[in-house]
Amino acid sequence: MLLYNSLGQTKQEFVPHSQDIVNMYTCGPTVYHYAHIGNLRTYIMEDVLEKYLRFAGYNVKRVMNITDVGHLSSDADTGEDKMLSGAKREHKTVMEIAKFYTDAFFADCDKLNIKKPDVVEPATNCIDEFINMISVLLEKGYAYIAGGNVYFDTSKLDTYYVFGNMNEDDLAVGVRDSVEEDENKRNKADFVLWFTKSKFDSQELKWESPWGLGYPGWHIECSCISNKHNGEYLDIHCGGIDNAFPHHTNEIAQSESFLGHKWCNYWFHVLHLNDARGKMSKSKGDFLTVSLLESKGYNPLVYRMFCLQSHYRKPLTFSYESLDNTANAYDKLIKRISSLDKEGTPDKAQAEPYIDSFKEALDNDINTSLGLTCVYDVLKSELDDATKLYVIEEFDKVLSLDLTKSEQKNSPSADGELATEVEALIEKRTKARAEKDWATADAIRDKLKEMHVVLVDTKDGIQWHIEN
Ligand code: AMP
Ligand code: ZN
Repeated sequence: MLLYNSLGQTKQEFVPHSQDIVNMYTCGPTVYHYAHIGNLRTYIMEDVLEKYLRFAGYNVKRVMNITDVGHLSSDADTGEDKMLSGAKREHKTVMEIAKFYTDAFFADCDKLNIKKPDVVEPATNCIDEFINMISVLLEKGYAYIAGGNVYFDTSKLDTYYVFGNMNEDDLAVGVRDSVEEDENKRNKADFVLWFTKSKFDSQELKWESPWGLGYPGWHIECSCISNKHNGEYLDIHCGGIDNAFPHHTNEIAQSESFLGHKWCNYWFHVLHLNDARGKMSKSKGDFLTVSLLESKGYNPLVYRMFCLQSHYRKPLTFSYESLDNTANAYDKLIKRISSLDKEGTPDKAQAEPYIDSFKEALDNDINTSLGLTCVYDVLKSELDDATKLYVIEEFDKVLSLDLTKSEQKNSPSADGELATEVEALIEKRTKARAEKDWATADAIRDKLKEMHVVLVDTKDGIQWHIEN
């Protein structure tokens, strides 16, 4: 299997450290707000990678952290803690915010058929591990204490900028965006391992440590949580491209200095989802969520398909127009598949070349759009219906689009026409009633009844739904 590796920036043959298991680590969400559909693009593509590895016969152990402490508003150690600002925004405690948005994140993942990783670990569970790793880094001379904080000393490394295309200029952007440079840092690229003092509002959550009451930096949590659950050798580390620098660069600095050997062999970065205004970001506040798409009538799996239609290493631009195209394609595909005759026994020998083509597509750096084309190729083929269904069910172990579950929620392209008609009728009826034109109002009520539309009077006006 060929996988693009950000280390080396080439497609490389994937060879796990041990034949028995693939150790995979995913940077989890910072749980101060809902995940937006950009974040979820990253998790969808990582989910496909994990499922494909399993499909290809590997055992996989996937670990994810939950960032519930230590992520400042700038990725470069400045600004307020994101969790604290979430808590202030909602007048709740940090732990209440963490619980609420962790649950919301997994609910969204469920809707998108994203499998929960084997291990999910909140950062606040691992304070002892953070303190231990930081102590070792200090002992080994990779860290120093200044102004009450512990910093990683990047000048101690032979190579700090490990992902070739990230350099000092990228860092300069981080510095320019921040309020003020941290004078405690010996080198511009140094970063905080443990805070006891920050210029910004203090954390709600603090822990005793050898360096005083404080809280961990953001990067240390992923190094420690991966080390705790994946062991010393990691095969694949995943995240969105914005995590490559400084977050992943700093994770490598910490982990390899701590372990004394190379840590992770493959770095899988998903390019961003953008909208008309540019990169979708949580801190902008105004962003698209799965619930918003649902409230507009979209089946969340339409968004999953939208993501699978393009390659994870290309930026993806979101628009409702493109999503509508996908919704149409999805509805048609589901209808075609549900019309297949379910009786009969699949011919597995006949199925093999189709499964091989699918593997070939995914083996080439997770080419999901080609993987989707394989579904259409099967439908067009001479295979009998039972074999077609068998092959598509196999593909769906990776694509997870519920392709063979016959009961599907319609997408708005189908629902939309109905909704427009119903809403026009309700408006006409309201107008007729206002004009005391009871005959027209009653005729419309009867027509709506025929359409199985139930009207409910609420304080916000008339609501409607289709009778079950
Ligand atoms: P966060 O919750 O901000 O820590 O981000 C969770 C994940 O989403 C990380 O892997 C980010 O790199 C990724 N991410 C953030 N913004 C986007 C975006 N616009 N498109 C795709 N992935 C993103
Ligand atoms: Zn991380």
